[in-house]
Amino acid sequence: MSAALLVTDFDGTLTERDFYQLAVGRLAPPDLPDHWADYRAGRTTHFDALAAIFASIRAVDEQALLELAHDMGLQPDLAEHVGRLRDGGWEVAVVSAGCGWYIERLLGSAGVDLEVHANPGEFVPGGGLRMRRPDDPRFRSHELGVDKAAVVRDALRRVPTVAFAGDGDPDLAAARLVAPTWRYARGDLAAALDEEGQPYQPFARWSEVVDGLLARGDTTGVATPHPDEEAGHRG
Ligand SMILES: [Mg+2]
Repeated sequence: MSAALLVTDFDGTLTERDFYQLAVGRLAPPDLPDHWADYRAGRTTHFDALAAIFASIRAVDEQALLELAHDMGLQPDLAEHVGRLRDGGWEVAVVSAGCGWYIERLLGSAGVDLEVHANPGEFVPGGGLRMRRPDDPRFRSHELGVDKAAVVRDALRRVPTVAFAGDGDPDLAAARLVAPTWRYARGDLAAALDEEGQPYQPFARWSEVVDGLLARGDTTGVATPHPDEEAGHRG
């Protein structure tokens, strides 16, 4: 067990683009109902909106879906960045309300082996992705499928220092749990934290999170309480 753990979102955080947005733009039927608007308006859960979009995908074969995943723009040189983190005493866990199907394939093609908490799913020949909520009740949420906050809470019990990086509203509850020093945000997550007056470290690319964490020193330095750490811990 490492002394420090970075829990990171996947879509839009470890990648430039979200899988669902690419899927809607390229592989979904033109008459697809606006499931995302339904989620935004509170008429359906985040999980059910994503699952409906993924199920509507019409991919000729698995390769077409894989190409879509590659176009998400995974952080370049990911293996090197993860190696740098591990040398500095950090382990990395992915927590995603998206589907493990593309996350595991992208990480595999980058030669990276990480703990992944995501919604399980499989490719349906001639169709899209069939996604389901996780089996493990400890990390299962009706709203997101994967309970991101529960993953972070569990990490805080086991690991002296926990950082979080994310870009979306589904990341907010998890981001609130870590100290501002270790809270990395961009996009909708940054806007939501701004609205709450909660400090965070901004980033544009995931590699900047790596640089930021490592700039704070080795594992010993990492475990040293930061002045604003107390204020950041909640729950
Ligand atoms: Mg995201």
